[in-house]
Amino acid sequence: MRHFALVALVIVMAALLLGLPQQARAQSGIEVTDVGVFDDFGQHVTFQGRIRSSVPIASATLVFSDNYDEIVRRFPVNIGEDGVVTYRYDVVQNVLRPFVTITFWFEVILQNGETLRSDNYRVQYVDDRFTWQQQMDGSLRVHWYEGEAAFGDALLEVTRRSLNAVNALLPPPPDAPLDVYVYASTTDLQSALFLGGEDWQGGHANPKMGVVLLAITPGPGQSIEMETLIPHELAHVMLYRSVGEGYGSLPVWLNEGIASSVELYPNPDYDQALITASRNGSLLAIADLCDAFPLDASRAFLAYAESQSFVRFLRDTYGTPGLFSLASAYADGLSCDQGVVRALGTSLVSLDTRWRESVLGENVAGVFLRNMFPYLGLFVFMLLIPLIGFFQRRPADGRAR
Ligand SMILES: [Zn+2]
Repeated sequence: MRHFALVALVIVMAALLLGLPQQARAQSGIEVTDVGVFDDFGQHVTFQGRIRSSVPIASATLVFSDNYDEIVRRFPVNIGEDGVVTYRYDVVQNVLRPFVTITFWFEVILQNGETLRSDNYRVQYVDDRFTWQQQMDGSLRVHWYEGEAAFGDALLEVTRRSLNAVNALLPPPPDAPLDVYVYASTTDLQSALFLGGEDWQGGHANPKMGVVLLAITPGPGQSIEMETLIPHELAHVMLYRSVGEGYGSLPVWLNEGIASSVELYPNPDYDQALITASRNGSLLAIADLCDAFPLDASRAFLAYAESQSFVRFLRDTYGTPGLFSLASAYADGLSCDQGVVRALGTSLVSLDTRWRESVLGENVAGVFLRNMFPYLGLFVFMLLIPLIGFFQRRPADGRAR
């Protein structure tokens, strides 16, 4: 039963030409019918079609790529007596990301040497272990399987507000579809990510695919979870769409700082974590949060708190245009420090200092002097030694002259 959704989708999509280059004679010599895709999520995907041609067919190939890695995969297929071709793709060995969109077509070589190609067909690799409900508003779509329609209403409403919050921080990119899939438990989400070959995380955004996966259990805590998770993960998608392929070069503190700073339900523990770390002298240097966050949970939490606060400081100091030109500099491939130099005309270390002083009330210059005090005393003493000698020798010098 679970296969029908995919089949229906493919047949609808089969009528569309979907953007990939078409060979001019694609339709002149072959007819492709009965196109279908059957998937068993996390196990295999079976592609099927019936190819007919007035000239005998020498060989046929199934070709497909997806909107995650865009690798073009080619598989020779046998043609049955009735022109039926099938190919079973093993998803255990060659994982597909959940909800990735697959574009596929058939290529044939006729016995007269001519090469022909079918239309493109597009299908989404849906996690069909669950029966998804859907609501949409323009290009926004929310999907869930546990909870009433009101749960979907709430999801869509928070997604709209999240988009507004992100658009207030980043220049809105061109409109494009965005799908939010909400699993009812972390176990369900975890299994989907596991089957898709990804590590488990609290929420998951696949910016290139325009897909966000979350775990929110319908119930009393749903609002807080929605207002925390949806804007955060949606911001990752929109940031990717704003800066393009260079998204992968953004420092982690900027990427996570932007995502955390648009959360509609602010994390109440971030401020306390910052104050405590500031008092203890255990704040992490922003320059140490460029490539990765700490693995240790409490230091990772502090890294999120710092990144959020630092990004807000940058926004308040340089405005949203300054923040975006910084993101663009990084997307152009500049290093963590060089990006700041080009976009904001200062260094990351001095910004870090200004942030600690203005947001956390630290007196970094005073702290520096206090820490240096013993060395300063020694330095002054060493300066005095030759002077003492000079005054002691002075009468003798006088006599010599
Ligand atoms: Zn994030």
